[in-house]
Amino acid sequence: MKRRDLLKGAATGAVATAASTLAAPAIAQDRIEINMVATWPRDFPGLGTGAQRFAERLGAISDGRMQVNYFAAGERVKAFDSFDEVASGNAQMYHAAEYYWKGKHPGFAYFTAVPFGLTYTEMNAWIRFGGGQELWDKLSAEFGLKGLMCGNTGVQMGGWFRKEINSADDLKGLKMRIPGLGGDVMAKLGGSPVSLPGGQIYENLVSGSIDATEWVGPWNDEIMKFYEAAKYYYFPGMHEPGAMLACGINKEFWDGLSDGERAMIEAAASTENDVMMSEYNAKNGDALARLINDQGVEVREFNDDVYDSFGEAAEEVFADVVAHSPLAKEIHESFVAARANIGAWAKLSDQAYVAQRNRVLGL
Ligand code: CA
Repeated sequence: MKRRDLLKGAATGAVATAASTLAAPAIAQDRIEINMVATWPRDFPGLGTGAQRFAERLGAISDGRMQVNYFAAGERVKAFDSFDEVASGNAQMYHAAEYYWKGKHPGFAYFTAVPFGLTYTEMNAWIRFGGGQELWDKLSAEFGLKGLMCGNTGVQMGGWFRKEINSADDLKGLKMRIPGLGGDVMAKLGGSPVSLPGGQIYENLVSGSIDATEWVGPWNDEIMKFYEAAKYYYFPGMHEPGAMLACGINKEFWDGLSDGERAMIEAAASTENDVMMSEYNAKNGDALARLINDQGVEVREFNDDVYDSFGEAAEEVFADVVAHSPLAKEIHESFVAARANIGAWAKLSDQAYVAQRNRVLGL
């Protein structure tokens, strides 16, 4: 019997005992209470406000049936404890970047971004139509979770450095905040990557505990004031070419919902996936101009030699991932196939058109 039928019965008093045996304490009568933890500081523009907007949308789209109690980083659990909080069933959802969990399984990195990975449009195509969601489900299920796309920052900047980076040698000994497999690339090149939640990066950069950091892009990085400690701002980031954010859901909770309830959550998450990307694209340009004109930031492009070194190191990192487990290998191979197939079309559609448009117009 479906939960909805049980609830209908409960309302008339016919099967009250059956209703009382419903295991999930988060489901009471016809209201669904959802505790959502996030890896972002409260009201942090883009990532935090996007997660909060998603939480509010769940309430609105369900006419208030889904009551979401949103907890920013540190309000219920620390940012990086969000995974365990939801996998254990203490909370029902998290909003996070899946690559924070690469210590649990390196396959999670592919569902945020990997070095030399997919752009926003390519990622959406892989997840929705290239087998990505099925592999994500398979991986998440091993941990009692279900993941949904729920935001994207687009291509990220390469990061903030105190000195110019002219060759891979300049990365040796560099202590840099860079999470995910991108951090592993830095390690292969002799750097010391660290993973810090957003709320702790500035203090570590200013104090000199780290030499460099990446975060997101101009709009977010301006707010973080990294320019106070590091003037060189490099692009493009090889490590996060389209960082997808995720809504992670306790699988037992998810499986206990009706088809309609799951569809509402999917719709709210999919909307945020789109809206967040729009907001980043709309706001990064103005922020970049302010960083250059008002803060004296020196924008630099990684040269080909540095990029070639990133590419060689990335292949070594991927070899380590593939060796981890059959599922890691399966995810990696699906990603590589998507990058080739979807990328071949992107090359002669979006990329070719934009290159010509910008050339003709001098943009
Ligand atoms: Ca980042």
